[in-house]
Amino acid sequence: MALPHVLGVDLGGTNIRVAVLDANGSIGHASRTKTLSEQGPDAVIDRIADLIAAVAAEAGIGADIPVGIASPGPLNPRTGVVHYTPNLPGWRDVPVVSKLEQLTGRKVALANDGNCAALGELRFGSARGCKNLVYLALGTGIGGGVVTEGVLIDGKNGLGAEIGHTLVSIDGPRCTCGSIGCLEAYASGWAIQAEAMKVATTADGDRLRELATDGHIHAGVVATAAAEGHQASIAILERAGRALGASIGSFINMFDPEMIVIGGGVATLGEALMGPARKMIPQYSFVDMRRDVPVVYSSLGGDTGLYGAGALAFMTFD
Ligand SMILES: [Zn+2]
Repeated sequence: MALPHVLGVDLGGTNIRVAVLDANGSIGHASRTKTLSEQGPDAVIDRIADLIAAVAAEAGIGADIPVGIASPGPLNPRTGVVHYTPNLPGWRDVPVVSKLEQLTGRKVALANDGNCAALGELRFGSARGCKNLVYLALGTGIGGGVVTEGVLIDGKNGLGAEIGHTLVSIDGPRCTCGSIGCLEAYASGWAIQAEAMKVATTADGDRLRELATDGHIHAGVVATAAAEGHQASIAILERAGRALGASIGSFINMFDPEMIVIGGGVATLGEALMGPARKMIPQYSFVDMRRDVPVVYSSLGGDTGLYGAGALAFMTFD
């Protein structure tokens, strides 16, 4: 029998979020609690289990309804172990799935937030109805997911499809992953901010310093300045956009997707970033694949983690 609904858990950010989602992507009962990661993995997992129990009781759903979890990684979805994650300091090889299955008595599936978001876009979002998708989460870092003929492409240990760390230039800037010249080192929130900080120390940076009322020159400040016609800011976003477009061209060559979906906070910079990207895509993709690949924005917004977790549960258990 088809599952009428599932429980989605979003472990990104500073809150644990739990919601009931139905097969059409309607979010029903939902709740959140502070993660309080400083209390250690066991306390956090207890709090996740308590929140699942509370939301399930409130929604009146049975013990047979499964749970999907979207978490930052690296993690292994095959074993259900979170290796470590920047927003949960102190976590090392935590067996989240087995612990939660014991505590809740429910079936539990785990995947990284980028892969979950790709599934969420396919089932509930901008790529609804597609079977072949490349999803990019442009945030502080860059995550994503790749789906081919309905199957998530993530490798032997589920660690693959780190498309934010696609090589753009072997002589490029240092990346957080330890490599050089990754897409993330050009087009992520931190990379745009790093370029802006360099400009801010020069005479060209006057406007950036004025706009950063709290002294924090983030990507949004660059976008505001670019919209005013500030040339140095336009150049920063063009550089990021060109790297993004070149990478998307590569993704089209590699995966022959029906659609590219762009999500995450940096995607809200819009066409100041995506305009230069769109110009580059045809130059970097094969002539017979470059036509008609729509590059669209995510429609899931701030609930991407919950939608992704729900989509994971439906895909795994339905
Ligand atoms: Zn990297």
